[in-house]
Amino acid sequence: MSDRLPGFATLAVHAGAQPDPTTGARATPIYQTTSFVFNDADHAASLFGLQAFGNIYTRIGNPTNAVLEERVAALEGGTAALAVASGHAAQVVVLQQLLQPGDEFIAARKLYGGSINQFAHAFKSFGWNVVWADSDDVASFERAVTPRTRAIFIESIANPAGSITDIEAISTVARKAGVPLIVDNTLASPYLIRPIDHGADIVVHSLTKFLGGHGNSLGGIIVDAGTFDWSTGGKYPMLSEPRPEYHGIRLQETFGNFAFAIACRVLGLRDLGPALSPFNAFMILTGIETLPLRMQKHCDNAKAVAEFLGDHSAVASVNYAGLASDKYNQLARKYAPKGAGAVFTFSLKGGYDAGVSLVSKLQLFSHLANVGDTRSLVIHPASTTHSQLDDAAKVKSGAGPDVVRLSIGIEDKEDLIADLEQALGA
Ligand SMILES: *Cc1c(COP(=O)(O)O)cnc(C)c1O
Repeated sequence: MSDRLPGFATLAVHAGAQPDPTTGARATPIYQTTSFVFNDADHAASLFGLQAFGNIYTRIGNPTNAVLEERVAALEGGTAALAVASGHAAQVVVLQQLLQPGDEFIAARKLYGGSINQFAHAFKSFGWNVVWADSDDVASFERAVTPRTRAIFIESIANPAGSITDIEAISTVARKAGVPLIVDNTLASPYLIRPIDHGADIVVHSLTKFLGGHGNSLGGIIVDAGTFDWSTGGKYPMLSEPRPEYHGIRLQETFGNFAFAIACRVLGLRDLGPALSPFNAFMILTGIETLPLRMQKHCDNAKAVAEFLGDHSAVASVNYAGLASDKYNQLARKYAPKGAGAVFTFSLKGGYDAGVSLVSKLQLFSHLANVGDTRSLVIHPASTTHSQLDDAAKVKSGAGPDVVRLSIGIEDKEDLIADLEQALGA
């Protein structure tokens, strides 16, 4: 073996996996079992006490899921990862380690619609308070910092308009405030952007989207960059204080630069319970093997479709960071030089009615609430995912009444353009 480090495509196929030691199976087996036999009583006690690593019960860990965790950690350049049942579960588990009731976190206003709901409403019942900031105005994050701030949350490529966030600038604000920067990297995937290289401390994903990539399995993952010192200022007692459920050990002291991933597993996943099915882990692992190929095709198709729409007389504007004229093009060149992703919006001269009509006329595009499928998808956010927001909030989050969102798949771009042409023209 040479000592060169494996490249991204090699990691996407191999990281975390090896032939099954008992059967020789080359694909990672689905360990469809709830529990694992202990060697003896001492072994059982050491597993429960966190003195040894090993399998206990699939709610806490599973060998199929472990391969997925190692693979995504390698692709993102993190120290460790934890797979969970969905992207939303990842967000709950992350913030549960960081916030006590009454604490705050700052979140970019341009976010996946479900995250806006989760942060603004569901988290209120835990006593976690979201403070909104504008990802186009880095100073708005600085102004939002208070002594109760415990984290900053942004998306690398933001839903729904595919805008690019200046991760490095916001990571500087986080560092000054002494709080971790959490980046939802779902729309970029590590193929396009690796937030840890730009100062992120924690990366979360909805694996449901581009990483799984085939629109068939829900999943989420948390990647620990291993960069944050949890012991400062007593702000993160879950990590720095003795844990009564584990004989008084301190997680940061014991686990060092992967303490956060451990906390998410042994305090978050164990007690909240959103475990990923090993079957879904297998489906997502299979998807990740082709991530570099798919992502490049997604991006190349998206650029071609965005260019077509930009020239169409029924279209008022196109928001795609991959276009030279786009206001995020500069950031796209810096953060995502291989392509600006495959999710973007455009607005129609005919407003709300034209948006609803377009969605009903498209044939190859599926009208549904998802992104990051092999298939091309379309949605009119104002009448669906963002319908619960008032008009001003819709516009602020990039989902005004005239806006249509596309998630471009890996079909032939000529067929996608032909479908849009007939739907816009008719
Ligand atoms: C879909 C999505 C989520 C939520 O993930 P689920 O797997 O649906 O729970 C979070 N963030 C972004 C950017 C998403 O696209």
